Amino acid sequence: MSRRQFLQLTAGVTVSAGLAGCADTGAPDPAPVVADHVAARTSPRPPAQPTPSTPAAPSVTATAPPFMGMVPVLMHHRLVDGESGTYDMTPQFFRAELERLYREKYHPIRTIDLARGNFSTVPAGKTPVVLTFDDSSPRQFAVDARGRVDPQSALGIMLDFQRRHPDFPAVASFYINQNPFGYRGADVARALRKLEELDCEIGNHTLTHPNLRSLSDAEVQAELGGLSALVAAAGVPPPRTLALPLGVHPRRRSLLAQGGSGPTAYRNEGVLLVGANPAPSSYRKDFDPMAIPRIRCSSHAGGKGALEMAYWLDRLRRDTSR
Ligand SMILES: [Zn+2]
Repeated sequence: MSRRQFLQLTAGVTVSAGLAGCADTGAPDPAPVVADHVAARTSPRPPAQPTPSTPAAPSVTATAPPFMGMVPVLMHHRLVDGESGTYDMTPQFFRAELERLYREKYHPIRTIDLARGNFSTVPAGKTPVVLTFDDSSPRQFAVDARGRVDPQSALGIMLDFQRRHPDFPAVASFYINQNPFGYRGADVARALRKLEELDCEIGNHTLTHPNLRSLSDAEVQAELGGLSALVAAAGVPPPRTLALPLGVHPRRRSLLAQGGSGPTAYRNEGVLLVGANPAPSSYRKDFDPMAIPRIRCSSHAGGKGALEMAYWLDRLRRDTSR
C-alpha cells in the first residue's frame, strides 16, 4: 500500500455506531467524528512553529522538516489486575505496550504538543505518540506525602520504563474529573502539582463526566469551567485540551473552545474524540486540533480488534514510508 493510499484510507475511517467513550458507556456520539471535520476544513494549517525558548542554542530538530506522518493518540482508561471490560488494561499489558512503542521508535509527547504542532522534543527518525488516560481513576497515578509516585500506577510504570530507557520520556496526558485519582481536599493540589512537575499534561474531562449533549449551554460551561477552575486552584496551569466524556459533543460545539467567565473561564486548544484511528500530523491540512481521533488500548480479549492499538501499530509498521 502506498503512503497516499494509506493516508486516504485512515482519513476516511469513521467511528462505528457502537463505539462510545469510557467504561461507563453512554449514548455514542452519532456524528461521524472524522469525515465531518475533514470536510469542514477548507484551508491548510500548518500551525505556527514553536518558538525556541533558548534561541542561542537551537536544537538539531529546530531546522528539520516537520513530521508529516500519522500520530497514534492512545486512549487508556482503567489499570486493573483483572480486566472486566473493553476499557480495562492489566499492568502486564501496559508494560508490553511501552516495550512495543519503544521498539518501534515511538516518542511520547502530550496532546497539547500535538495540538500546537510542537514536535521539537521528538528526535529525528522517531514518530510522535500521545498516551492519554481518561477518568483519573486511582491506579493511573498516585503519589505519597513524600512525593514518590506509586510504582504500581500507570505513571509509575512509565517512570520505571524511563529509568531503563532514558530516551523514552514518561510523559502523558491525564484527563481528569473532580476528585482526581481518588484525591480530595488538599491532596488534589499535591497530586496535580506532582503531575505538572513531571511534565505531564492535566486535561479537562469535565467535573462530573456527563453526556454533554443532554446539558444546556450554561451547564456545559459549568462542567468545563468548573474543572478548569479546580486545576487552577491547585496552583498549576489550567487545562488547554479536553477529552469529551463518552465521546459526545455538546449541542453547541463552539463551547468546547472557550466559555465561562471569571474564575470559571476556560479555553481549549485541542479536543480528543473517542475513536478510532491515528491522527494526522499537525502539519497536514486534514488535521483538526478540535477533533483529534484516538486509538483504544485495552487488554480485554487480548487487545485485538480494529479499534485497538495492536491493529493500528501493525498497519503503521506496514506503511513503509513512515
Ligand atoms: Zn471518561
